[in-house]
Amino acid sequence: MAVVGAGPVGNYIARQLSAAGYGVVVFEEHGDIGNPSHCGGLLSYHVEEIVGKIGFLHYAKRAKIHAPDGSTLEIGNDENRAYVVSRVEFDRELARMAINKGADIHLKERVRIIDNGKIVTNAGEYRAGIIVGADGINSVVRKAIGARLPDILGAAQAMVKYRSDVVERVEIFLGKNVAPGFFGWIIPYDENFAKVGVASYEKSYWYLKSLLRKLNLKPLALQFGGIPIGFASRSQWKNMIIVGDAAGQVKATSGGGIYTGLRSARCAVESIDSYLAGMNADLSGYESCWKGTIGKELKKALYLHRIYRKMRDEDFVKIVRVLNDPDTIKIINEYGDIDYPSRVVWKVIRKKPSILKNLGIILKLSTLA
Ligand SMILES: Cc1cc2nc3c(=O)[nH]c(=O)nc-3n(C[C@H](O)[C@H](O)[C@H](O)COP(=O)(O)OP(=O)(O)OC[C@H]3O[C@@H](n4cnc5c(N)ncnc54)[C@H](O)[C@@H]3O)c2cc1C
Repeated sequence: MAVVGAGPVGNYIARQLSAAGYGVVVFEEHGDIGNPSHCGGLLSYHVEEIVGKIGFLHYAKRAKIHAPDGSTLEIGNDENRAYVVSRVEFDRELARMAINKGADIHLKERVRIIDNGKIVTNAGEYRAGIIVGADGINSVVRKAIGARLPDILGAAQAMVKYRSDVVERVEIFLGKNVAPGFFGWIIPYDENFAKVGVASYEKSYWYLKSLLRKLNLKPLALQFGGIPIGFASRSQWKNMIIVGDAAGQVKATSGGGIYTGLRSARCAVESIDSYLAGMNADLSGYESCWKGTIGKELKKALYLHRIYRKMRDEDFVKIVRVLNDPDTIKIINEYGDIDYPSRVVWKVIRKKPSILKNLGIILKLSTLA
């Protein structure tokens, strides 16, 4: 069996299937697992439940949201809600786990063509009974199964010298002058450094430079990437499946894709295992599995993202003002979960339906229920 891509999803699948006794070869185009890294490294405890506490740097307990008029909303408390990892260490540890279970990782081997079970790389030709595409936004396996990805958000990020007064607090910047269609962020890396990033439907690097100027910060290293918004038109075809960013399994509300990719990877492992054990005739169970589990939340996140995209700066200012009262913050703190954003939206609206009226937002609540 072949896995294309040694990112978190590919390494996790390789580890699980190798542990189950299958022969797994992983092709990775880069010579160094985890590099180049283009990730904020902010994860929820759901990730820890799947892979353990790897690459850990520090907890994240609070978030400060900056509205376009300079007003702010601070949520969170002393509870550990999420954590920040070194993405390089995180990916490397997963690769180590896969290798320890017997997976064979071929570095510097880019898959160029996939044709009817044949895999052509820059170093040779192989045949595989099952091919897993965990090869990110420009997935070659996705092309081989004839699927499309709806949209890609551009993302630009810089490592900066940054002394945060609270390392366990991330910051979010909203508004059309910061990041049209999405948002900007500061994720402290440690006491001295932070990742400042912007994802946007247009000119993300230009907006990153503008945010850095506003914050009076100088980039020490730049990273660029893309965030898929929306699912691939199909995620399985014959003996091939695509998982993670390759399939668009990313939260459209935050751009976070590690938990959702790993959650979907579990479905991939189950489906491959059942197929190889002769319990299923094909791999079609994979698509129904992820769509029936994490896919439901991903759909809600897409719905919320479409509403968010239409919001104007004055809407963000109003939202920050309306949410900024102790009762609402209490609800947010109680139900907020970065991997299940619809839950807190649903709770806030149910407890305070006047919010929607105040904001003039029309939400189809049944979509979030
Ligand atoms: C700026 C930015 C910040 C982000 N911050 C966060 C965050 O804070 N939290 C979060 O949860 N998510 C975040 N994400 C999203 C997260 O990085 C992705 O969802 C996650 O990396 C997806 O994992 P993956 O294994 O599916 O794909 P990837 O991590 O993209 O791994 C794919 C691998 O496949 C390899 N590959 C690709 N093509 C080939 C080929 N043809 N042959 C061989 N190898 C190939 C690549 O080199 C790579 O190693 C962020 C994304 C960006 C762009």
